[in-house]
Amino acid sequence: MSDYTVELSSNSHQLQTNRFYAAMDKFDWKRKQMVKYQLRNRGIKDKRVLAAMSKVPRHEFVDSSLRDLAYSDSPLPIGHNQTISQPYIVAYMTEAGEISPSDKVLEIGTGCGYQAAVLGEMAKEVYSMEIIPQLAIKARRTLTRLSYQNIQVKTGDGYQGWAENAPYDAIIVTAAPESIPKPLIEQLAINGKMVIPVGKRDQEIFVLTKTHNGMLSEKTIPVRFVPMRTKSLQ
Ligand code: SAH
Repeated sequence: MSDYTVELSSNSHQLQTNRFYAAMDKFDWKRKQMVKYQLRNRGIKDKRVLAAMSKVPRHEFVDSSLRDLAYSDSPLPIGHNQTISQPYIVAYMTEAGEISPSDKVLEIGTGCGYQAAVLGEMAKEVYSMEIIPQLAIKARRTLTRLSYQNIQVKTGDGYQGWAENAPYDAIIVTAAPESIPKPLIEQLAINGKMVIPVGKRDQEIFVLTKTHNGMLSEKTIPVRFVPMRTKSLQ
């Protein structure tokens, strides 16, 4: 091998290394901007939500062709006619869930696993259910690659919840049913919060608190989520 060849290959290695760091910086920068302009400036205050969303690499959860759009102020397609929610909505729902480090959390609608990762940064254990098997498999793979060890994903119908690990300190639902599924109310701990979009086309996020005397319910912002499917619609 001539010196020339050696030099060429080491240069190309250097180039690749530089590209790697440039890519990292680009996404880090975009993520910081997202947190500042889309979350903080719009009123998200919970420091732990802001820290989690400053950390989770949202671009790792979308298709490589959409990576550059991962931090934009919009939902994005994740395949199978489903979408990852806009960053603000993820932050809003997570803040409303009042997640503590000791919490056990149930998420309905794993999708690509991004919301689960944000919850995984903030809670002790996260259980996430997804009705489309291919999405569940892919999300599990992404979460494993990113070393999230406190998140379990299962394929199943979120209307039934995940009774084995109940009660949950918080339940975050990221697909919209027309009414609140009873099993989810049953699986919520006393003082637990459920954050759930409800409605057909025009939906609102409800924040429910379970008390000894029943459920307290607060209707909050209007949203548009994909419908929560029942088995019969599949
Ligand atoms: N939280 C997700 C986005 C969710 S999109 C993320 O961060 O990427 C809504 C998801 O809910 C879709 O993937 C859809 O397949 C799933 N879903 C719809 N109905 C469901 C049901 N009954 N049980 C579980 N998941 C459901």
